[in-house]
Order: sequence, then structure tokens, then C-alpha cells
Amino acid sequence: MQVFSYSRLDKKSRCPWAFAQSYILEKKEPVTEALVLGKSVHTLIEMARVLKVEREEELKFLAESIAGVASLPVNAEEILTLATRRKVTESIGKGFTEEYFKISLSPEDPFGPELQGYIDYYEVTDTEIVVTDWKTNRLPYNPLDTHQLGLYALYLTQKYNKPVCGRLVFLRTGETREHLYTPEDIEKARRWAYDTALDIQQKIYALNCGGNLDELFPATPGDVCEYCGYAEECAKLADILEDDPGEFVSMKEAEKYGREICRLERAADLMKERLKQYVEKNGPVPVGKKQWDLVISQYWKFPQEAMKKAEEKMKDQNIDPLTVFSLTATGLKKLNWTDKEIAELGASIKPTKNFKLVSIK
Ligand code: SF4
Repeated sequence: MQVFSYSRLDKKSRCPWAFAQSYILEKKEPVTEALVLGKSVHTLIEMARVLKVEREEELKFLAESIAGVASLPVNAEEILTLATRRKVTESIGKGFTEEYFKISLSPEDPFGPELQGYIDYYEVTDTEIVVTDWKTNRLPYNPLDTHQLGLYALYLTQKYNKPVCGRLVFLRTGETREHLYTPEDIEKARRWAYDTALDIQQKIYALNCGGNLDELFPATPGDVCEYCGYAEECAKLADILEDDPGEFVSMKEAEKYGREICRLERAADLMKERLKQYVEKNGPVPVGKKQWDLVISQYWKFPQEAMKKAEEKMKDQNIDPLTVFSLTATGLKKLNWTDKEIAELGASIKPTKNFKLVSIK
């Protein structure tokens, strides 16, 4: 292995076992809906640029065609909405899109590992390069949280010898997060990529000399399992059920348990997905007095006009609408009021405690 992409290096850093399944054993990772949606949005952006398509009906047709051939059901409307955000359409035709690059990760070592990739979009101004990566993630993060833009900055500074501003655009919300890369940031990204690539090469060498794949590329359960397609296979490695400590006596034991739950939950999700496909074709699957089935859930949706009529009907029946209607979190979001403004109205926050996996602040 000589040429590495950012995603390959990132996979190795996050979970060596998942990396080995993908890139050494070449086992195809089952795709996830999030991945298919992200790829579809990028495809539409690229097709719109290459075919110079701007009209809405044409873009809609392209989005439907892309959704039609996607490996998992994705919503054409969602693809269209995300790919035609103002920040994307404004950029079409201005800068460089989907540029391929390949550079050495260590200029002093001609036989050293190389890095390749495609850059979503960048613009060259008089003073700097602005490199953009479109993201369909639900949760935004900062450019320095990963080394992706730092590595793009490495290539672009070599090509243009100008400062590079890295920009992540989160298409769901339109939120943009930027960072002006310093030479130290870029060197840190290069060092990480170089060390990770060398580590992979050394481990592959050890494997070829008779090493054990599971030991050289260990599974590292944790939050990374959330979208992993190998979880069902990987869960077979879990020893937690045999070694159950009962009551935890240390944070280390509790952490191991927490990590295993991530892996087992993901495996259960994938198993459910497979079972669902069976149920879709063959009907409900009984498990004792219950059964796995596709159940329709329904709720009333009130358009504005229906809401008005509901309010009038309540008044006719001497019911105070305020005893029925409430401002939901979604409604408050639309109003864009600050916490202070809400508190001044006399509202108060009612905290509830839920046990779940959350991001570390
Ligand atoms: S389930 Fe978790 S530990 Fe297993 S391969 Fe995937 S990411 Fe790694």
C-alpha cells in the first residue's frame, strides 16, 4: 500500500479492524443511508457543474435520476435541497470543483507514502486560497477536529504558495466553520498522515510475515461503531458477556462496558435492518407472544387553516385554547427567541435526565 486517501487514514485511526476489513481483506462495507445521501448530494453538485445545469426542473430531474440508482432508498427532494443551498450554487463556475491531487507525504523520501484525494471546491483570491468541503452531517464540527482540510491545505500551499483558509459548509443548516491554516497546522496534519501511513505499511509487512490480523489491526469499539457496516461480524469478537464484571469497580471497567454497548447496539441495528427486509418480503416474524412486524404509526397534521378552525371550535365549546396548545421546541426554534426573552415571558426550563450517548463538550 503506497497511496493513501484521507478517508483510508482516518478509518485506520478510528478503528484498525474496520480498516483491515475494508482495505486488506477487501470486504465490501454495507452502505448506510447517511453515506448514500452524502454521495448523492456530491454527485448532484458535480453533475450540475459539469452539465452547467441551473434550472430547477432540470436539477430536480437529475436529483430523481441519482436517487433512482442509489444503492439505498434516498429522498430526491432532500438531495435537491442540500445540493442547491445558496452557498453551493453561488460557487458554481467560480473556482475549482472536484480537483484530483496526489502528493508525497514526505518530500525527503521518494519511496515514502503518498496522499491522494478529490477536493470538493476551492477558490483562489489575490491573498489566499479558500478550500471548501460540503458536509451532510447532522452535527457540525470544526475544521481542526479532523486532519482532512489540513491535508488539502498541504497540497494547495505547495501548488499556489498562498495561505489557505479551510471551510466546512454544513448543508443541512447552512452553518459554515472556517480556519486559517498556519504552517504548524499543516505540518501537524502531514505528520499525522505520514505516521499513520507508515504504521499501516509496517503492520501489513508483519501480517505478510505471518502476523495475526486481529492483533495487528485490533477492533476498538466506541462511538466510532455508530455507523460501522462491519458491526455484526465484529460483535463476534466481543468478550464482554463472558467476562461480565457484575458491578463495576473502576472507570476502566465501566468504559469497556460502554464501548461494547456501542458495538453491540450497532450490530443489533444491522440485524434489525436485515430482519426488516425479510419481513417486507415474507410478513411478520413471531418471537413468543410478540412478533417483528412493520407497523404503521400515524398522527394528525394541522395546517394553519385547520389550526385556526380548531381554535374557533374550542372557543365555541368554552375551552381555553391555551390549556391545549403548547409551544414546542421546534416552534421556539422558528421564533428565534433568546433564552433571556423566553425567561422574561415567565417560562421556565424543566430538566429531565435521560441516559444516552452524547458528545463530550
Ligand atoms: S463495530 Fe466498532 S469496533 Fe467493530 S469494526 Fe466497527 S468500528 Fe470497529
